[in-house]
Amino acid sequence: MIVKQIWTGNSGRNFNYLVACAETGEALAIDPLDHEKCLRAAKAEGWNITQILNTHEHRDHTGGNGPMVQETGAPIIAHKNAKARIAEMSRGLSAGDIVKVGKTVELEALDTPGHTMSHVCLLSHTDKPALFCGDTLFNAGAGNCHNGGHPAELYKTFSEQLAKLPDSTSIYPGHDYIENNLRFTLNREPDNKRAKEMLDRVGGQDPGKAYVSTLGVEREINTFFRLSSPSVIATLRAAFPDLPDNPDERTVFLKLRELRNSW
Ligand SMILES: [Zn+2]
Repeated sequence: MIVKQIWTGNSGRNFNYLVACAETGEALAIDPLDHEKCLRAAKAEGWNITQILNTHEHRDHTGGNGPMVQETGAPIIAHKNAKARIAEMSRGLSAGDIVKVGKTVELEALDTPGHTMSHVCLLSHTDKPALFCGDTLFNAGAGNCHNGGHPAELYKTFSEQLAKLPDSTSIYPGHDYIENNLRFTLNREPDNKRAKEMLDRVGGQDPGKAYVSTLGVEREINTFFRLSSPSVIATLRAAFPDLPDNPDERTVFLKLRELRNSW
């Protein structure tokens, strides 16, 4: 499996992806908003885009579908419940379904509601897994829920699915938000040394050569995986004085999601 992360350079800071089979050169385009950059990148590698996948129905992820289909004739794949909102979608995914790319690549669909209620992440079946997580999980952050999502569902997706993936899983999110998100981590958890080191490392980085984190790293720098950290809870109590003693992780997650909206 070869992964190409494509930086769009747009104001939404979107990342698009090509995932290719090294043997056949067939490629899957994930959320190819900047269809021209994606097509150019595929051409430069000698790849053939044979499928398009949308992680979810938001326009900044589906907006390149039309011209991409016109250029490649590739079918569009998305969550089975996104049919009404993604024009010309031809395959609907349920949890556990496999998207095959060429001969060698298998990507498993995870049904990951929260950012929207019809969002899929793709998990590669490779020795070192890769997770294409759209707007569910960001580097050092979590997706918002104000365009068709539900914070409680997002918490369930994090705790029941994402948190259970191996530390070695590479994280490929739908946007480059790492710098801002690390500032939120440090705002909530000022003593988080790993987050401070990471901010020094990626602050001002060229998103065209972006740092790719792993789930193990996210567990250290992403507040939404650090729900029992004493300093996360202490700063949360400063913002929400009625926070119960020993708050459960769900409560902490929901309060953090709420704070992040106005931060
Ligand atoms: Zn979105």
